[in-house]
Amino acid sequence: MKMEIFVLGVGDAYSEKHNPTSFVINSSGNYTLVECPDRLRKILREFRDISKRSTDIKDINDVIITHLHGDHSNGLEAFGFWKRFIENKKPRVYSIKEVFEGIWENKLKAGMERIYTKNFWVKEVSFDFYFKPKILEFEKINEVNNLNIEVKKTKHNLPCFAIKVNGDLGYSSDTYFDEELIEFLSPCKMIIHETGPGIHTDYKELVKLPKPIKQKIYLAHLSDNFDYVNSELKILEEGKIYKFEARKF
Ligand SMILES: [Zn+2]
Repeated sequence: MKMEIFVLGVGDAYSEKHNPTSFVINSSGNYTLVECPDRLRKILREFRDISKRSTDIKDINDVIITHLHGDHSNGLEAFGFWKRFIENKKPRVYSIKEVFEGIWENKLKAGMERIYTKNFWVKEVSFDFYFKPKILEFEKINEVNNLNIEVKKTKHNLPCFAIKVNGDLGYSSDTYFDEELIEFLSPCKMIIHETGPGIHTDYKELVKLPKPIKQKIYLAHLSDNFDYVNSELKILEEGKIYKFEARKF
């Protein structure tokens, strides 16, 4: 199965050089967005300008959200409004149970719970007015769009998970360095792994990994002072399309 990764962003939450780390998986014309940062339409537009590939918000009706930090999920409000009121569609949002427990009450409700109807009556709505929630489960293969997704919890401040797509594309999301996570991701052909200071994965730990794994890692979630020039590991490129033949399950 042909898989393309459209890289929308490679930066961390503070970057002034990059969009927040996020990407679209295109598998045979099915688009799955991974993470939903704010200003999503502008980010897609920037991707189009660099890659010369037409990618529009209208193509995206499936979104994976790994956790509720803003750089990964703040775009959901405008995305939900756009889909509901411009396209009259209800996109599918995929995440683990613990993320769904907070996604409405602790995040989206403040900006999305009340709408005016045509007669200017206020109507109270909930998450499922905008989105179809789809729970991703551990220890099994989850069907997402036409992808097969496995999930593993990461070591982060909030409930958060890494994904493995068709056994061939890995994405760490946010995490401390975690050997068990590396083991989970290691069979993949391409591993998008975060790096950063503080609560993130120390670059020095990734450099110590065995060569066959290191060669498959593409660094993301980069801070602006990351040493791009001397990095021994590959760096995910914003605006680039990565292609490979993925396993069919
Ligand atoms: Zn985070």
